[in-house]
Amino acid sequence: MKNELIKQLAFFVITTTVLSLLFYNLGVNLILSLLLGIILQYGAYNGFVYLIDAFVSFKGTRLQNEKLKLLAQQGAEVTCPCALQKKEFVPIRLNQPNYYKCSTCSKTVGLFTAIETALVTEPIANTDISSVEQIILSKLNESTGKYQ
Ligand SMILES: [Zn+2]
Repeated sequence: MKNELIKQLAFFVITTTVLSLLFYNLGVNLILSLLLGIILQYGAYNGFVYLIDAFVSFKGTRLQNEKLKLLAQQGAEVTCPCALQKKEFVPIRLNQPNYYKCSTCSKTVGLFTAIETALVTEPIANTDISSVEQIILSKLNESTGKYQ
């Protein structure tokens, strides 16, 4: 914090000195050169800060728009329960209740997402059935006496 202040003061003094010397060398009065240096630096600094703020704000808006675009992609085509059965693509967010207004009947429709489960199966690595076949054949032999 203290170092930051010293840096800013040093930058201010150096910049003002350089600008004042420039004006002084161009034949302007010494006091007027100092004032012009200070005013010019103040204006340049404010302009710079304004440009940085505008850039950051622009970037923030763009990021927010991209986020909204991503959210809009998370949706589903649903049918309104009204008599007109209008189909619409609506955004769905899992962290909040979802509603949308039907564009045909202008009623508010709630969305409920049902989660289903399914077992994750693994591919069979060994397709050799000779060991199983052997067991089946031995069982058949025991019961019928055939297939020897
Ligand atoms: Zn409707």
